Amino acid sequence: MSFEEKLVKALEALGAKDEASVRALFVEVRDALESEKRTLLSTPAANDADRMERAKALRDRWLSRRNGLLAQVDEHWLKPASRELKPVVGLEFNQLRQLAKGLEVEELIKSVAVDSRSAVVGRDPNDPEGLGAGKGKGPTQAAEAIGFDPTLPGNRRPLGSIHPITRVQREIEEIFLTLGFWIESGPEIESVYYNFDALNIPESHPARDDWDTFYIDSQTVLRTHTSPVQIHAMEKYGAPLHIIIPGKCYRRDNPDATHYPMFHQIEGMAIDQDVTFADLKGTLDFFAKRFFGDQTRTSFHPSFFPFTEPSGEVAVSCPICDGQGCRTCKQSGWIEVMGCGMVHPEVLRRGGIDPDRYSGWAFGLGVERYAMMKYGIHDIQLFYQGDLRFLEQF
Ligand SMILES: [Zn+2]
Repeated sequence: MSFEEKLVKALEALGAKDEASVRALFVEVRDALESEKRTLLSTPAANDADRMERAKALRDRWLSRRNGLLAQVDEHWLKPASRELKPVVGLEFNQLRQLAKGLEVEELIKSVAVDSRSAVVGRDPNDPEGLGAGKGKGPTQAAEAIGFDPTLPGNRRPLGSIHPITRVQREIEEIFLTLGFWIESGPEIESVYYNFDALNIPESHPARDDWDTFYIDSQTVLRTHTSPVQIHAMEKYGAPLHIIIPGKCYRRDNPDATHYPMFHQIEGMAIDQDVTFADLKGTLDFFAKRFFGDQTRTSFHPSFFPFTEPSGEVAVSCPICDGQGCRTCKQSGWIEVMGCGMVHPEVLRRGGIDPDRYSGWAFGLGVERYAMMKYGIHDIQLFYQGDLRFLEQF
């Protein structure tokens, strides 16, 4: 006799005359309920609608008010139960009702979710990677069984790339590192003394004007060049000294194709005994050939900077047209790439180095300009807009 057939008979007719036999009957019913629930949860559904339909069917089979299996237990077992058996039947029936709450559709759906998770967590010990999940079943069935499709590709997060400014900065650093220079850095918020006075830039110099410099207060500025680090380094290490100084600088420039209020400089400085302008020319010529190519020629022209004496501008033969004249070099065949000079004796003195014993040279270049030349970029603002379409090209 199936348990369903038993449900439509009275307890007496089933021979249940004591507590033990009543409990045994209820155990049978509860086992059936649990088993049907497990079957529903473990059977793959074609889709959500299919699963919902089956969940509803199971719920109605047991909990339907009119003719659900529980209603039958109530009708045929509880109501006609003898006075002696009524308490135990009532108790068992209550337990069955509690258990049957798990058949409400929303509970079943929760169970499906939990079941999927435990299917992933509780992997087959012989298959710890879960690679064979649902082996022997079709991929869709396996996916249904564990709640997701392990054969789908994962979520890839795009990797960024090195910013062109950083890329060029590193390339320049690398060339000087091979020559025995080391990298020195300093604060971007700088005192007026280190930014101007110590570098022999007098109060009357136009660079100190409010129009050109961001002042934090009357004694503090956003550094307008990386040169203050020269003084810091001289104070810190003394001579001899071979450093390059990469970093951000700030000037009150309105942004346009060639200006931006923030930009990157690299300075170099070499201080030792008997250092001459010939060393400067040799080093910068070597650097230019390394960076722009072996065919590159360099040309030095007199210039003026307060912190070097004598001062010069360095031009390289145009790497685009090799000196023949083109749009990039404005038909001149040459491109100015940096300023340089012998360190002014006053600057050495401010750094605590005796200018009678030591001499040195220094140069400064704008990293943006090198990056623009190298990659053929015509607007400096592109570097700072964070536009992935631009940045992804490097
Ligand atoms: Zn050219």
